[in-house]
Amino acid sequence: MTQREVVSFIEALALANPNASSELVFTNAYTLLVSVVLSAQATDVSVNKATVGLFADAPDPATMVRLGEDGVARHIRTIGLWRAKAKNVVALSQVLIDRHGGEVPSDRLSLEALPGVGRKTANVVLNVVFGESTMAVDTHILRLGNRTGLAPGATPRAVEDQLVKRIPRDMLRPSHHWLILHGRYVCKARAPECWHCVGRPYCHYPDKRLEPV
Ligand code: SF4
Repeated sequence: MTQREVVSFIEALALANPNASSELVFTNAYTLLVSVVLSAQATDVSVNKATVGLFADAPDPATMVRLGEDGVARHIRTIGLWRAKAKNVVALSQVLIDRHGGEVPSDRLSLEALPGVGRKTANVVLNVVFGESTMAVDTHILRLGNRTGLAPGATPRAVEDQLVKRIPRDMLRPSHHWLILHGRYVCKARAPECWHCVGRPYCHYPDKRLEPV
């Protein structure tokens, strides 16, 4: 895409869904952080189902540590990688208590030092909670960036760097939500729904599907 097409594509997504936001259910920085850790290779819907009970029992790091790995596991067994995630959630809660006064830190280095937290999770927390113009690249944005010509790149980091470079600064923060939701509901992996895609005039994907199948 040309720079003009990039801006037009993002503007079209913005117009179609001006109030886009995370589909994870959370009440504060801690519950968002835990939800994002749980969402790796799982849908937001499945995470939200699991966290209703989890956050009722353990709404903060201290209660999460007391609940322990087995207690966390009981709530999250329905989502993928639950054993490792239960371990990470308890461990990261302990680190928050030991090093950050029980609060979620607002800097990337500290976030990425938490068990189970990588660059993508840190980017989501920095964006949603701390208002930073970060771009968290998940599987949807990786696909969308390459398929459309918006931000071609072989790795999430390469796509992230392209998006940060190409999307105007004042549109970058909400673009995270616009792109994820577009990839999740319209530009789907197997069958992109190009026939009702607002970004179609700017998209360079050669095999657009112009009718439902
Ligand atoms: S036109 Fe099709 S391939 Fe291009 S962004 Fe829209 S849904 Fe995706």
